[in-house]
This record gives sequence, structure tokens and C-alpha cells, in this order.
Amino acid sequence: MVISQSEFPTVIYSLLNPVLSQDILQNHSFSIKYSDAFNNYNGNIRYFKQKKHIEFHLSKRWQTVSEEIVSGLLQSLTVKLFRKSNFLITNDTINIQLYNLFMKNLSDVAERKDSDEQLIAIYKELNEKYFQGFMEMPNLVWGNETFRKLGCYEYATDTVTISTILQDAPKELIASVVYHELLHKKHKFNVRNGKSFHHTPEFKKDESLFQNYAEVENQLKKYLSTKKRRFSWFHF
Ligand SMILES: [Zn+2]
Repeated sequence: MVISQSEFPTVIYSLLNPVLSQDILQNHSFSIKYSDAFNNYNGNIRYFKQKKHIEFHLSKRWQTVSEEIVSGLLQSLTVKLFRKSNFLITNDTINIQLYNLFMKNLSDVAERKDSDEQLIAIYKELNEKYFQGFMEMPNLVWGNETFRKLGCYEYATDTVTISTILQDAPKELIASVVYHELLHKKHKFNVRNGKSFHHTPEFKKDESLFQNYAEVENQLKKYLSTKKRRFSWFHF
């Protein structure tokens, strides 16, 4: 990327000019920090009200991305931060659109990992049954043993991760979670007012098309509560 850490404060005004009102721009200082602490293309914004300072914290990955897209990221973060204030001029710019497009398309160029055979088989059946064979295979891996998040789809790496809590669950239950995550790959996300929406009405409509949807949801709940009981036995 073109903006270096040192020259950033002078560039920031022109970058944030389209979204942020002059009074806040001129009364605040800004800084940008790159860090290894983030995975992939993450970033956040911190507001130090007393010091009137705004700090952007970005993954090092952004250093090699074009300035117009990084501007979109910085503008999006700014919009998110000031969403409820009246300091915003707009919440939608060409740069924000470019940034969102960039994030949505990252999955097409993501690196391939070694996917799990069992999950690949499940994906293949789902692809035939629900996507007419048009769903490209994402990376499919097992993640941590967690109840909190049974699955997730990460756009930047095009990866579906399934909690190992489900590893010995009936195939249909695993399939229902994989299906949900594949729908994230299909629907991507909508951005409105600086917020991303993932479970849109169209998403939910597709989700309900899973065979015996309500029944499978129930079974999944039962499976998890039984598992939780056993899990707490093991962990005391
Ligand atoms: Zn979801």
C-alpha cells in the first residue's frame, strides 16, 4: 500500500474528507498502526475521546493493497465509529464500495488448504442437492472444540470451519451446519450504514430449504445438550 505510517497524518485528511465533517477532522489527530496480531485482512479503529485522537489498527496484509481500497477500509471504519453521531457526511463512497467488493472477492483468490475428506464428501452432496453443482468448493476444515460457534465461513480465506464438537455427530447434523456456512459463501453480505448484514431474509429463506430443516435443528439442539453434559463430566 502507498500510505506509510509516517506520512499518514497528512494523507488522512483527504482520505476521510468525503465521510467526516470538517470540525471533527480538524480538531483530531490520527494515526495508523500495522500489526502482525491480526489474521488476514482485519482492522479496527479506536477513539481516544479525551486526547481527541483516532487510531487505525490494521493487519500488515493491507500494506500491499492499493490505496483506493485501503481508503475504503479507513472510511468504513470511520463510518462504523461515528454511525450514531452527526459528524458523518455520508456512509457510502466509491472507496467504501471498492473495499466491500475487494472483501467479497477475496474468496476467489484465496489459497487452497488441505480440506478434510469427511467434510468434502458432505460438501459434494450438498452441492448436488441444493446448489445444482454450482457451488465452488471452499476450504473445509475442522476447528476448535467449541459449542459457541458450530461453524464459520471466512471470506478472506474462503474457508468453512466446523467445530470438532460435531465430529462424531450424525452426518445430517454436520451437513446442516456446513450448509449454513456455504450459504454465507453464496450470499456474501450486505452493507448498510457501515454495518454488515449476514443473515438476510434471502439467506434465511435458503436456509429453510434444508431437508427436514426444523427437525434437524431440533436434533442438533438435543445433540449439543447431551454433549454438553458429557463435556462437563470430562472437564471436572
Ligand atoms: Zn451464519
